[in-house]
Amino acid sequence: MTTDNSGDVRLSGIGKTYGSFTAVHPLDLTVPQGSFFALLGASGCGKTTTLRMIAGLEEPSSGTVHLGDQDVTRLPPYKRPVNTVFQSYALFPHLDIFENVAFGLRRRGIKSVKKQVEDMLDLVQLGEQARKKPHQLSGGQQQRVAVARALINHPKVLLLDEPLGALDLKLRRQMQLELKRIQTEVGITFIHVTHDQEEAMTMADTVAVMNAGRVEQLGSPSDLYENPQTTFVANFLGTSNLIEAEVDSKSGDRIILKAGGGKLTLPEARCSAPATAGGKVLVGVRPEKISLTHADDAGDIPENRNRISGRIADSSFIGVSTQYVVDSPVCPEFEVYAQNIDRDPRLVPGAEVVLHWNPAHTFGLDAAQD
Ligand code: ATP
Repeated sequence: MTTDNSGDVRLSGIGKTYGSFTAVHPLDLTVPQGSFFALLGASGCGKTTTLRMIAGLEEPSSGTVHLGDQDVTRLPPYKRPVNTVFQSYALFPHLDIFENVAFGLRRRGIKSVKKQVEDMLDLVQLGEQARKKPHQLSGGQQQRVAVARALINHPKVLLLDEPLGALDLKLRRQMQLELKRIQTEVGITFIHVTHDQEEAMTMADTVAVMNAGRVEQLGSPSDLYENPQTTFVANFLGTSNLIEAEVDSKSGDRIILKAGGGKLTLPEARCSAPATAGGKVLVGVRPEKISLTHADDAGDIPENRNRISGRIADSSFIGVSTQYVVDSPVCPEFEVYAQNIDRDPRLVPGAEVVLHWNPAHTFGLDAAQD
């Protein structure tokens, strides 16, 4: 199979400084043609600046932007085969919704636009609103017009800067799936900026997690969730319990660690910290991977599981599962999400418990990082 990479977006050493402030440290990134790529991070981490450098709206302080073989670093935005959907709607106020969406087609001299525009409006659930003016629509509806307008010309790359931010949660979810479906159908590269980890995980094939102007980690949503490499990623994507542990020894492809009075096992492949004997490692495990057993039944727990002891501090019943907070000497406020199948009635605040999990679900982080 040959791979057509003529539409890959390639950033090489691209960086941006404002005076003495570095918004984006020089970074290298390749977004494969046809992928749905998310730049994810908290406000101010540099994701919008990165997107704007791809669009040509921000001049990089260093580095180059390539689209396939073409160096587009010095091209003005309108000469790049990209289109952007902004946080602000930027619709033409004097044109109705139909004409706003039709605009790009008409500018290219296409006469029969009706079917394409109607299909696009149906896609964003605005078929009934075609003859209204932008000011007669809600903010969320206006944002959907902006998405339709940007897509109508089938750009090679669609850049989306928090495009769903104005929508209510239900519509936002619908639009996430809609955008994903559209992207799959048209095969255009989507580069999506968001601070919402769930949104990035739902939509993107690949996510770049940004922090303080740097890409902390790049990977598929499941890889980032299962194998975070830094405490920032571990905590930004979902909840992680982190236990301070000390490397004791190695046994085959497993690292044995001391935590409190006990031992924990960590697959070496899932440890991003240097694991030298006596070194410190932060051992992580996700709340939903943990089982909770009353201390009186601790003898029933299979030998090969990681385990720590604690006392239930709090529990909240949330339907399908119960969320427990467990205080333990090695990790205060350990979070556990347990499915409510055969729930043990003794598991109430104050109960002594053993938390245990399959070592395969453990990850190791560098305790020395900030
Ligand atoms: P948000 O989600 O809030 O839009 P972001 O991650 O997209 O945040 P950027 O907009 O890329 O962040 O900004 C990165 C940093 O660069 C921020 O600290 C911001 O204040 C700063 N910055 C952005 N534009 C300028 C500018 N024109 N002059 C000075 N500093 C700027």
